[in-house]
Amino acid sequence: QAEFLNTFVESIWSEFTPLAIKTNSINLGQGFPDWIPEEFTTKALVEQANTPQNHQYTRARGDLQLVNAISDLYNSNKEIGFQEQLDPLTNILVCNGANDGLYISLCSFINPGDEIICIEPYFDVYPTGIVMAGGVPVFVPLRPPKNPGPNISAQEWTLDESELRATITPKTRGIIINTPHNPTGKIFSKEELEMISHVVVENNMIVFSDEVYEFLVFGDNKHVRIANLPEMWDRTITICSSGKTFSVTGWKIGWLIGCKQVINTVGLYNQYKVFCVSTPLQRSVATCIRQSMDGQYFSMIQNRFKDRYQQLSQLLEEHKLKAVKVDAGYFCLVDVSGVNFPYDQNSDVPRDYQFCRWLPVEVGLAAIPTSAFYSEKNKHLAGNYVRFAFCKKKESLESARQAFQKLS
Ligand code: PMP
Ligand code: GLN
Repeated sequence: QAEFLNTFVESIWSEFTPLAIKTNSINLGQGFPDWIPEEFTTKALVEQANTPQNHQYTRARGDLQLVNAISDLYNSNKEIGFQEQLDPLTNILVCNGANDGLYISLCSFINPGDEIICIEPYFDVYPTGIVMAGGVPVFVPLRPPKNPGPNISAQEWTLDESELRATITPKTRGIIINTPHNPTGKIFSKEELEMISHVVVENNMIVFSDEVYEFLVFGDNKHVRIANLPEMWDRTITICSSGKTFSVTGWKIGWLIGCKQVINTVGLYNQYKVFCVSTPLQRSVATCIRQSMDGQYFSMIQNRFKDRYQQLSQLLEEHKLKAVKVDAGYFCLVDVSGVNFPYDQNSDVPRDYQFCRWLPVEVGLAAIPTSAFYSEKNKHLAGNYVRFAFCKKKESLESARQAFQKLS
């Protein structure tokens, strides 16, 4: 195998999802909805599958039906969209989900040895994506509050400007940000993004902005796009995914948004990597977007996620476990420091990993160890938090009640 693969290990998804299945556990680990997707989504797929013209290659940068739907969605509502008027032909590249979009972006902009900053905790594919593109990941943590109060919120995980600036070297090329954030559920505020954008502009960097949870924002919270801040449009690639928004994570249709030059660059790379992405699935997503543009679907799904978060945090609270308050997304962190389990203090395996390996086997519940989202050096910062997914049916969450009982 190639040398860079010698540093790669089995991903958390390859370990914890099979473990959940093998132990027949309630899976609050991997972030996929366990409900049947809305009828309009599956109907769109059936209709597109039944249309004979839909089964050949399509335009390399994205099927016209889809890029038109995406630009109409963002252009029709500047509050959720981009300050720039998007041109469907020059500002969008369709990819195989956000993971692929991130990889295409990194490969298109990284020269060997370039350093890319990753904010910890990060979605697990960032550092490996940087390495695959020939770059070097450099880490800077979000710091949790030193003395957390009883109602700790994801907003309290913050990025320190001086720590960020200390990571900059002559080799720094870019930064990956993720808002709304996996795994904390934090939305980066405008002020935080402004601070990052100043560092980016001063150091002539590129931003890879993973915004897959852009439409899953709760209550009055607002998703802020770094691409919309001054001087950022030309140096930001925004990475989006239909899987999260429409509860169809298996469709793997995502897209990149950027200025013409950025999309030309990623398009140049992508035509040789994959050429184009599945035609019927792209057209199905186009239909889904069109059908949700009146906003009703988005508010319905936001409310559903918020309700599920509240249901989970109440269930946890009944059993003296505390979920961190989240503002968006699929996940929340839960402090399990008070839970007794056979923890081996002499092992190199972090406590949260030991907990998440024990949990399905002994309690019939699956969660994800937060230290998986940290570099080796900073795994200790994960503390006693594990990640629970609340993108699950009411009944699935309810059925976790008995499991939580065993933890209290
Ligand atoms: N980024 C983040 C932050 C995620 O949580 C996920 C989860 N799937 C992805 C990217 C990947 O998205 P996709 O399934 O569209 O590749
Ligand atoms: N994004 C999802 C999560 O964080 C799933 C990721 C995956 O399966 N690769 O749980």
